[in-house]
Amino acid sequence: MVNLSQKLSILDKNGLYRDCKYICSEQKPIINIDGKNVIVLGSNNYLGLCNHDDIKQASKKAIDMYGVGSGGSRLTTGSFDLHNELEQKIAQFKGTEKALVYGTGYMANIGVISALCNKDWVIFSDKYNHASIVDGCLLSGAKLVRYKHCDIEDLTVKIKTHLGKNNLIVTDGIFSMDGDIAPLNDIVELSLKYNIITMVDDAHGVGVLGENGSGTISHFNLNDKIHIHMGTLSKSIGSIGGYIAGKKDLIDYLRNTSRSFIFTTSLPPASIVASLKAIDIIQNNNKMRENFQHMIKWFRKELLSLGFEVAQSITPIVPIIVGSAEKTVQFSNILFDKGIYIPAIRPPSVPRGTSRLRASLMATHTYEDLKYVLKYLYQYGKKLGVI
Ligand SMILES: *Cc1c(COP(=O)(O)O)cnc(C)c1O
Repeated sequence: MVNLSQKLSILDKNGLYRDCKYICSEQKPIINIDGKNVIVLGSNNYLGLCNHDDIKQASKKAIDMYGVGSGGSRLTTGSFDLHNELEQKIAQFKGTEKALVYGTGYMANIGVISALCNKDWVIFSDKYNHASIVDGCLLSGAKLVRYKHCDIEDLTVKIKTHLGKNNLIVTDGIFSMDGDIAPLNDIVELSLKYNIITMVDDAHGVGVLGENGSGTISHFNLNDKIHIHMGTLSKSIGSIGGYIAGKKDLIDYLRNTSRSFIFTTSLPPASIVASLKAIDIIQNNNKMRENFQHMIKWFRKELLSLGFEVAQSITPIVPIIVGSAEKTVQFSNILFDKGIYIPAIRPPSVPRGTSRLRASLMATHTYEDLKYVLKYLYQYGKKLGVI
């Protein structure tokens, strides 16, 4: 038997041991953990839709009408009219012909890549792409070529060297740990030049960027140039689930072959209805997004003026790079004592030596909350030598 306790103690020694913090309240800007109220900067609930009153009401109604469980997989007895409605809504939102909903974004990524690609494919993947993309690539058996993060020169060189019979370029739209945006215009140019299929994982872009909040692809006005639109229903949309949107043939093919779609129970009615309602709210709330953009710019500028190295990006994910895993955990713990919860992100989620506090903003934060956070970020950032 492998010696797991030894493996665990090695993780612990390197500051890489992980445990859960249990929240005893709604997923709001101020949450309760073990009886302690803390301001959270780290939730993916960017728009506060995890606990929007209208959405809660709609979900409750769905439970009364349909019950709590779906009772089957999608191709047997688990497809409700609601699933169909949601897939049509997503297709309309993303400006594609069709969409397919999965249990989570993770399942969507492994499902689409492993259904589409095999050992005859070459996949060009950004080095900082989400783990679920990497897992999908590995599962597919395709040749995986990772290019330097957002580096079009490197991607071009790698394409020239490795181009195969069938090829895919896959990238996050907004990078989950860095908060920067993929150079989609350049990627599309390469896709056209070399006839390569493109896929964008827009887990973090929806609700934040693009026309009516429809995401990063729309932000660049490339809706019909990206072949595979992937997204999640669990971040801005505030519910649970993932999806692939694209041409009819792609979606029909996935419904027939994608194992993480087929061999699992479908999403329950209350979650589906929550997503439907949330997309409605996002599409009809440009003002909310404008205010949010204002807050994002302000927060980034404040951090910069305090001496933190942050980019002037327009996304709510603001990494505060610390360096070593141990020091990052220490910083996060000190802040927690002050009533601020910013998760420490360490390898393997990010490269060694770039451990960070991953601060993420919510449209429902107040400026007062954020000023409090800035004060202690500065105080302990100085003390720990981060700034
Ligand atoms: C969160 C995330 C996923 C996975 O989505 P879930 O719905 O949480 O499984 C995929 N890709 C990226 C970039 C993500 O940030």
